[in-house]
Amino acid sequence: MRFRAGVRGFLAATVFAALLAGGWTRAAGQESALNPALPLVHTDNGQNSAAAQKAHYVVLVSLDGFRWDYAARDGAKHLLALGKQGVWAPEGMLSSYPSLTFPNHFTLVTGLYPEHHGLVANSFWDEKKQARYAIADAKAVTDGSWYAGVPLWSLAESQGMRTACLFWPGSEAKIAGFAPTWYARFDGKTEATDAVQQARIDNAVALLRMPEDARPHLITIYYSEPDHEGHEFGPDAPETRAAVLKMDAMVGKLEAALKATNLPIDLVVVSDHGMAKIEGGWVTLDQFADLTGFETAGALLYGKTEEDRARAYDKLSHASSQFVAYRRKDVPAALNYNSNPRAGDPVIIATGPYAIRAHGPPAGKADQPPIPGMHGFDPRKLPQMKASFFAAGPDIVHGRTVAPFENVNIYPWLAHLLGLTAPKSDGSLNVLAGTLRDGGEDAGEKGASAQ
Ligand SMILES: [Zn+2]
Repeated sequence: MRFRAGVRGFLAATVFAALLAGGWTRAAGQESALNPALPLVHTDNGQNSAAAQKAHYVVLVSLDGFRWDYAARDGAKHLLALGKQGVWAPEGMLSSYPSLTFPNHFTLVTGLYPEHHGLVANSFWDEKKQARYAIADAKAVTDGSWYAGVPLWSLAESQGMRTACLFWPGSEAKIAGFAPTWYARFDGKTEATDAVQQARIDNAVALLRMPEDARPHLITIYYSEPDHEGHEFGPDAPETRAAVLKMDAMVGKLEAALKATNLPIDLVVVSDHGMAKIEGGWVTLDQFADLTGFETAGALLYGKTEEDRARAYDKLSHASSQFVAYRRKDVPAALNYNSNPRAGDPVIIATGPYAIRAHGPPAGKADQPPIPGMHGFDPRKLPQMKASFFAAGPDIVHGRTVAPFENVNIYPWLAHLLGLTAPKSDGSLNVLAGTLRDGGEDAGEKGASAQ
């Protein structure tokens, strides 16, 4: 599922004026204005608590579809230097299944597998709601009732710490009682323009230059490249390599701008998933089984009755070597994809980089071949799905590499960097404790003990 193409144009007409926070005007002499190319919505969640003011800062950057091996392959010098200065995962970070954009971005900020935070795909059907979630549907995306878990910004806000999302999937909804103090509305028409890409850096710095009681300690930044190029041209195309280097230069600019603030900032650069070159043409499920009466979303199948589900499973279970069909309860435990009805039943898992869909185009409409690059596959079976991880800053050890780890572990680690007490999740602080200068000790006390 293509994120950028899918949301192109949505919300395009909605323009929000940049609002000035109460404390903003008090930054006499040192404030820099927000860049109007990226208007921000302001929510008044109060000021930073005294403890939050003592905490360090985290800038979390996502480069969509930045496959784990791109940096070394293409000589992304800023990212490689960041990893050398701090920590990185030279063999990649494991995405959660399915290795899609919204599910994994929300896993990164909740520590929950997609079946637990509820975004089981970029687009899915909810039987109970009798409604559909889709990343291009602004009404669904901004409705907090679709999301479970406590995203990092809500966790911070609930503990007296201000946050800003210069976009992140889920950040436009009020979840677990909070919206970020600052957030950007996603605008598919402009979000990949040079002006908006630069504005994310400018606005991060402008927010960090606000007075201590107002400035956000967690800032998330999202870039849709090189995912877009990876889809359109394939992971190995010159266009994708160029986008990799463009994003690397962006990270270099951001790093320099953050350094100039002289604040204790941990810079964390991740991606949501990798990219695979698609093999062959479409695999269309309704050629193997009668799906009349099924709700469908991509390759997700929602049978209305047990009879329908069993019948489709029978037909699909030995239909092709390009996918395996499971009754949902039987999906292998390692995928963490057998408990949420939003995943449908039966569940179809691709066995390779194959483009699978429930239906072809409606009669009379011309079919298009699959795009050259796709993701969404099982990261344990297809290493091309692995994501990137780089981090450096005052709380992170120098020059250490980490073996592939599941991205659910990012959440407790980020919470620790910020001195927040994280709720139980699918991740564990132990996994990345060796990357922390304090070894992961004193969880929850960081705000008070930060040097
Ligand atoms: Zn993505």
